[in-house]
Amino acid sequence: MKSLSRISKPSSPPCKRGLTIAIDGPAASGKSTSAKLVAKKLGYLYLDTGTMYRALTWKALRNKVNIKDGKRLPQLAKETKITLKSQSNLETKIYLDGKEVTSLIRSPLIDKNVSLISTIKGIREAMVEEQKKIGKEGGIVAEGRDIGTVVFPKAEVKIFLTASFKERVRRRWKEEINKGLSSEKKRVAIGLLTRDRIDSQRKIAPLKKARGAVVIDNTCLNIPQTVDRILEVVKTKLTP
Ligand code: C5P
Repeated sequence: MKSLSRISKPSSPPCKRGLTIAIDGPAASGKSTSAKLVAKKLGYLYLDTGTMYRALTWKALRNKVNIKDGKRLPQLAKETKITLKSQSNLETKIYLDGKEVTSLIRSPLIDKNVSLISTIKGIREAMVEEQKKIGKEGGIVAEGRDIGTVVFPKAEVKIFLTASFKERVRRRWKEEINKGLSSEKKRVAIGLLTRDRIDSQRKIAPLKKARGAVVIDNTCLNIPQTVDRILEVVKTKLTP
């Protein structure tokens, strides 16, 4: 009976524009820069899911909503329109209810608060629903903390990108200096440690290596080398 019903109801696989590439990893592991370049090489869409949590954090702080308010914040997420627009120079512009917030969401204040907001169930549900819609046709490189585990668990390519804590602190500190911020290594280290801890210990969708993910430790690799390593993994999925 089972095979008969299969014959009478053929289901054709959905047409996909390309592979789904999921890249997860802790803060300052080089996910954004590498994912962007991999997307460019393949002509895929690039999705930085962290920007969505960051944009909502910015709105919550601006509206003076308590960042632990598990009732008000999911409501705020529902009332909020976050739009990501890819530019030809690989950058993504982020709009929050029509206002551009691209650089505003990259401040130390957002870094400090974003992980707490990201623990809230209703917020994650709203974000994940949107991310699944964006990636439903494949041909996408998505990066974040729960991409291979929750958002695209069936992704053909899963990467867990990481680097030593010392190296990640050095990278974030350098980034802040380059932005002209008066950055202190100790403060950067405490911030990263706190964010890593909240992201990997939260109950819902904690940061962890997804089943089947390839771990790339890029402590001693530069960005082009990291991109090459990711593309090597992609190649194994493209060749029949
Ligand atoms: O990637 P980025 O550092 O910009 O992410 C900011 C924060 O957003 C993370 O520290 C994490 O708390 C949250 N996040 C998340 N799930 C994702 C992406 C980001 O919880 N998929």
